[in-house]
Amino acid sequence: MRKWNMIIDVSKCEDCNNCFLACKDEHVDNEWPGYTLAQPRHGHRWINIMRKERGLCPMIDVAYRPTPCMHCDNAPCIEKALNQAIYKRNDGIVLIDPEKAVGQKELIEACPYGAIFWNEELNVPQKCTFCAHLLDKKWEKPRCVQSCPNGALTAICVQDEEMAVRAKAEGLQTLMSEKGTRPRVYYKDLHLYSHCFIGGSVSYKKGSAEECAVGATVELTHEGEIIASNVTDCFGDFKFDHLEENSGVYALLISFDNHEKRLDVELGTSKYLGNVLLF
Ligand code: SF4
Ligand code: SF4
Repeated sequence: MRKWNMIIDVSKCEDCNNCFLACKDEHVDNEWPGYTLAQPRHGHRWINIMRKERGLCPMIDVAYRPTPCMHCDNAPCIEKALNQAIYKRNDGIVLIDPEKAVGQKELIEACPYGAIFWNEELNVPQKCTFCAHLLDKKWEKPRCVQSCPNGALTAICVQDEEMAVRAKAEGLQTLMSEKGTRPRVYYKDLHLYSHCFIGGSVSYKKGSAEECAVGATVELTHEGEIIASNVTDCFGDFKFDHLEENSGVYALLISFDNHEKRLDVELGTSKYLGNVLLF
């Protein structure tokens, strides 16, 4: 059976919030019987854009991670809900039954992704519905997906086996996979949000001037093994990405024009080492 999945490309999100506003437009003051009650005007972020800044000026980047309900296959919220107030449809979408869920405020805590919000006025928990009311009417996409100008959001309805092949081929990742929740929302280039980098700029003295060391070789060693190597660009810059935060000490060996320099770096979060003067 084909089921819904969402693929979110972190490298394409620019925090324009069109998806967030489209969600508001679809759900605020609009009740969709059989799917959800109306979303309140304030306080809910059914698709929440999380932000992560990495590095230091001038080597700095910002990544945005849109975060809706993950429509988990092994959903802690379903387990916690009394009276089967949260359920999974055959097409993979997880919905909250607004009548059965009345008063169950504790469901907010049941979601490890912070995807459930409390509607004080209506006394119900609420969350992203994957716009199931539209998909059931043969619309092709949820409103957030339709509204993204960068194509950062993709909704696809495929067999689980096909999704697994695609996830492997494209290096897609899910959030908190160690919790065993089996999310149906996948991320591309998640390292821009979840991992860190070591970068720097290499230079050398030529007369009284300082020149960029273009084409210097930089080797990165961790736990006794060379794990990557890099060549500095036309500004003398290098950058090693995809590194785990708080992953210990790394050694850098910089070689250029018969000169070498070794640096040890204790990695917490992303680090720009500044200018490294070789000779
Ligand atoms: S992300 Fe949270 S609300 Fe959504 S299905 Fe998973 S546990 Fe439930
Ligand atoms: S609409 Fe697209 S680019 Fe804009 S915040 Fe949402 S996902 Fe990011």
